[in-house]
Amino acid sequence: MATVRAAALVRGHGRGASGAGDLAPDEDAFTLLVEAAERVLRPEAPSEVTAPVSVSVWGALPPGALEELPLALGVTSVAPRLEAGGVATFAERLAEPQPAAQLLLAVEASGSAAAVALLTGPAGEESGVEISGADGPEVFEAPGKWDSPVRLAWTLLQPPPPDGSRAVSLPGARLVLRARRLGPFAGEESWTNPSASPEGNVPGAVPVGEPDLSTVSEGAYLPAATYRENLPSRWRLEAAHCRKCGKLSFPARSACSSCGSMQELEPFPLPLRGGIIEAVTTVRPGAQPSEFDFQVQRGGAYDVLLVRLHPEVRVTLQLTGSGAASARIGDRVDTVLRRLYPMEGAWRYGRKAVPSGRSPS
Ligand SMILES: [Zn+2]
Repeated sequence: MATVRAAALVRGHGRGASGAGDLAPDEDAFTLLVEAAERVLRPEAPSEVTAPVSVSVWGALPPGALEELPLALGVTSVAPRLEAGGVATFAERLAEPQPAAQLLLAVEASGSAAAVALLTGPAGEESGVEISGADGPEVFEAPGKWDSPVRLAWTLLQPPPPDGSRAVSLPGARLVLRARRLGPFAGEESWTNPSASPEGNVPGAVPVGEPDLSTVSEGAYLPAATYRENLPSRWRLEAAHCRKCGKLSFPARSACSSCGSMQELEPFPLPLRGGIIEAVTTVRPGAQPSEFDFQVQRGGAYDVLLVRLHPEVRVTLQLTGSGAASARIGDRVDTVLRRLYPMEGAWRYGRKAVPSGRSPS
């Protein structure tokens, strides 16, 4: 079988009637899948993973999302395949020795929302499954029943019996999958960006003073063409590094915001985790930009944060979920892709902040 190098399972972050795992208002199958995939690709630790040469997707995504997945994940050289056949084809892919790294993504976003990502590599090494978090989805109510790839993967990700192995026999598919858990997920507590400047890009302590929230206005109408121009910045927090003057521009643009050079720019990934809150403002109902009317109707007031991601870069991010005034200056936050607002008949997506280290499951 293929060696599973990294795995992650992400539930919906809503808290509905079932108690856990429902979609939050700003989530859909696309955001769940991207969040799961980001956990295993871990751009802040590229040495630990192999860039996938193939991406396979099981499940239903919003229109156009399959084509946009590579951009959201920063693996634009790979065209994802939408797989038919459900759990049987998912199991077959896991069981086949693979010559190179592949990314298996499965999502079910109706009812019990969850997405799973498995990054696999060539066979021949010790098999293993690294799980993300210990709290599994209670929504998978019947161990031993695998009616979706997500449920099958979840079964494989369960803590192993004492001998350290777990076998899953699939009736009908004539397959036995074996996985061995390598250990609890670790590493979320720290982040580094090897491409950063020598002094590092972990922000230092922030002096608490008057918040500068002059940048919180998001404006209103955003033409689709303008939105799409900046997707690497909006979806992956990609800045532009100027080789001429050494400064960063964010959002990335065609000319350096410091020296104006248009020739020497290179992509510079800002860290997706571990930013420090420098300012907080609560947007109460009635004060929101009109594009957020939908969100306010669903969730009421929300917090907008000014977050230091790099010594040179601060970004404005909404805090996910409702419950305003829950963020404090100096706290660290991670970022996730979420739906922002509907415009021109489609959802616009961007990154929002979540408290750092929250629920790595
Ligand atoms: Zn420059």
